[in-house]
Amino acid sequence: MRLDSVRIENFRNYSDVYCAFDPGVNLILGENAQGKTNLLEAIHYLAMGKAFRTRKEAELIRFGAEFAQLEGLITGQERQHTLKTVLFSGRKSRQLYLNGVKKKTHAEVNGILTTILFCPEDLMILKSGSSVRRRFLDHGLGILRPRYDTALAEYTRILESKSKILRDRFQEPSLLQILPDYSRRLCQVGAILISYRARYLQALGEEATRFHQAFSGGRETLEIPYRTVSTITDPFAPVQVLEDQLLAHLASHERAELESAQCLTGPHKDDFDAALDGLSLKSFGSQGQTRTAAISLKLAQRELAQRELGEEPVLLLDDVLSELDPGRQDFVLNQIRSGQVFITCCEPERLTRLGKRIRIHGGTISEE
Ligand code: ATP
Ligand code: MG
Repeated sequence: MRLDSVRIENFRNYSDVYCAFDPGVNLILGENAQGKTNLLEAIHYLAMGKAFRTRKEAELIRFGAEFAQLEGLITGQERQHTLKTVLFSGRKSRQLYLNGVKKKTHAEVNGILTTILFCPEDLMILKSGSSVRRRFLDHGLGILRPRYDTALAEYTRILESKSKILRDRFQEPSLLQILPDYSRRLCQVGAILISYRARYLQALGEEATRFHQAFSGGRETLEIPYRTVSTITDPFAPVQVLEDQLLAHLASHERAELESAQCLTGPHKDDFDAALDGLSLKSFGSQGQTRTAAISLKLAQRELAQRELGEEPVLLLDDVLSELDPGRQDFVLNQIRSGQVFITCCEPERLTRLGKRIRIHGGTISEE
């Protein structure tokens, strides 16, 4: 799949721009704060229906504007599609159109344009807190399994309600009566998440190991074991078994949850470890090893998406190359040869012979 062109109105620092893209590599050049990442954000938002730098959609709309509009021409599976999103600054909810036909949710346009983003923070994915790794997992799984996205959204909703009950029950003790219902539901949906995550991590681990081995000249073996709730004996077990084991863990933490007024147990605490030849990267990995493993994970994610979707997702590389030494830059560039890629960078010297050059200056776009 590829994005042939995009029109951006009132999105971030763009007022009204149009740009056609190369089916291969698109180099996005410009000085700091000109709108390079904003362009990637627009493409990512159009494709995935989610922003990657903010949770507040209003921030995406150009300061002072009433609405933002993104429209892309996409080629996928031998057909052309137009995808359009309109965001409003007030209470009005977002509108979405596929080939001119209004759609209710982004799930209905799933797979029309899929993007995988790689940014400098991803290089620290194995050193950061667990929420970053969960987000990585959630994104990768969401691309492949729309039902995972639905389950995750439901889990998040129940979790928020349960947290509110735990906080508010001091003022309103009657809330405690409905607490068990929420706990049960949380374990039901939580079991589904664990089941998906275990399978995804296994497949991802195989691919990542392969990339990391190629990267390290066959010297290092990367493993990414899943870390979930401690009562889960086998995350591949049937969902009903997982649910019972989650309930058991919850039962032993009931008092602690009431006292701390927090949801202490469940897959919202999930994590995965990363180890090279049995040594945890978080504790023992060098900078280079950590980065290399992170790149392997990201390339593995793209590989899985490509294999399962039957089409190559569009790759968005935001400032990653400048963070890498020349050897790693070459490795990444060699691995991403196929499919459509958008690369932002400030110093293009090393990349001059690649693809189309797009110059960004103060929210304007010109082709070189
Ligand atoms: P760098 O090389 O530093 O990463 P960049 O070219 O990627 O720079 P962007 O992050 O794309 O820069 O653009 C940042 C600019 O966009 C900032 O100057 C910011 O003020 C502006 N900006 C962000 N959101 C909005 C908005 N909603 N309306 C108008 N301008 C915005
Ligand atoms: Mg940027």
